[in-house]
Amino acid sequence: MPPLVIAIDGPAASGKSTVGEAVARELNYLYFDTGAMYRAVTQAALARGIPIDDEAAVTALAEQTHIDVIPPTVDDGRQYTVLVDDEDVTWQLRSPEVDAHVSRVSAYPGVRTALTQQQRRVAQSGRGVVMVGRDIGTVVFPEARLKIYLDASPEERARRRYEELRQRGRSADYEQILAAVRERDAVDRSRATAPLRAAPDAIVIDTDGKRVDEVVAEVINLARERLA
Ligand code: C5P
Repeated sequence: MPPLVIAIDGPAASGKSTVGEAVARELNYLYFDTGAMYRAVTQAALARGIPIDDEAAVTALAEQTHIDVIPPTVDDGRQYTVLVDDEDVTWQLRSPEVDAHVSRVSAYPGVRTALTQQQRRVAQSGRGVVMVGRDIGTVVFPEARLKIYLDASPEERARRRYEELRQRGRSADYEQILAAVRERDAVDRSRATAPLRAAPDAIVIDTDGKRVDEVVAEVINLARERLA
């Protein structure tokens, strides 16, 4: 049986993780955020003092590092727990340093090969999975049963990230966030391997001006149609 996958792709802060988690909960599917794996490799490189420009060293790190994305082990608002060689790095993955370097790391083809293999393995559990990322519908699971591409303007996405940080009690600068979002999009879209783009058969949902619950309901309706 081919794995039952709902792919949700889209640019930074387009709402993929909020929507993905809600859809997975509703359908009793596993929720899997592949961005966490690229962030984990980036965090590990920064923590070990490996220069991000050193493609061979960063690729070797991705091949050797054991990354586990498991259900939350602490009730502190996290969607999941990420272990890198058994160390809990969940919140470190959200740092501005990781944000600033992750797109460089995920442009390395060897890093992508290593992580794509692990992502495909996760979906073999026999349970349905909502997989969230940039290349799920195009590369990781081109055979996914339903492909969604969530989009929103850079301004709207920066505003959402700004509100999110403020709600967590963190200081935030809108203009800086907007610049970082644009920068990450540009690198993710222009890389040679698995660039960010909608699969030809993806359903594109523009979330500007839409509430989260409206988008979630739209995706669940599409899933029920497709899976019926
Ligand atoms: O989704 P999130 O913002 O956590 O992703 C962080 C980065 O990881 C993205 O900007 C992108 O460079 C990379 N990524 C990727 N392919 C995926 C998921 C994330 O290249 N499937």
